[in-house]
Amino acid sequence: MKTNKNLIVAIDGHSSTGKSSFAKMIARELGYIYVDSGAMYRAVTLHCMEKGLFDEHLAPSEEAVMELLPGIEISFRRNPETEVNEACLNGRVVEREIRSMEVSDHVSYISTIPGVRTQMVELQRKLGTEGGVVMDGRDIGTVVYPDAQIKIFMTAGVEVRAERRRKELEEKGVSVDPEKVRRNIMERDRIDSGRETSPLKQADDAKLLDNSEMTFADQMEWFFSEFDNILRDGQDN
Ligand code: C5P
Repeated sequence: MKTNKNLIVAIDGHSSTGKSSFAKMIARELGYIYVDSGAMYRAVTLHCMEKGLFDEHLAPSEEAVMELLPGIEISFRRNPETEVNEACLNGRVVEREIRSMEVSDHVSYISTIPGVRTQMVELQRKLGTEGGVVMDGRDIGTVVYPDAQIKIFMTAGVEVRAERRRKELEEKGVSVDPEKVRRNIMERDRIDSGRETSPLKQADDAKLLDNSEMTFADQMEWFFSEFDNILRDGQDN
């Protein structure tokens, strides 16, 4: 599709609503860059875990996490085989590790820390300076890019989300207790929506997409019809 090349597409929403698959597909269709902001918080969490900051019962202090932050360099590299952007932590590809259940269990705590958020937001803005970006997360349309021309807030019923997530993990060869997956999703939504700094919420000018009963094709059709005039060349937006 011929589009205005400088647009920013901000996609926020609840956990496991299929934001990244949707965002990747939009980026592919528009020839834009896709940025997975959640991967950044996950990479910071993985680093904290590897440094032994979490034990079974205790979350690390903000100070301990902030002390580690200068030693963390997050980047993305394009996998030439799959043509997918992979998250790197200090130069090491960690795409698989950051998707583990353990990281999912700790990431929402790490992302409540204001100092962590400041650094991640800075990096996210840097990656989108040129426009032509689809970014997904929790605060993209509210904090990172409040002026994004296209904003979407995604949600779906919790049972639907848990089942999709379980299937996705199963396809990756990870077998998990469905109840654990459901609890993790609900807990992350609770922490993400309730935190003081940049809580997850729908931006006033974001379009709501409840995809509980939508196929992938339905969602793409919705996107192109909903934002048709913004996407076309020559529009003011
Ligand atoms: O998108 P994903 O589920 O991979 O994000 C993992 C976690 O990272 C979220 O549950 C949330 O705690 C945090 N996150 C955030 N702000 C973003 C993206 C993700 O706080 N922009």
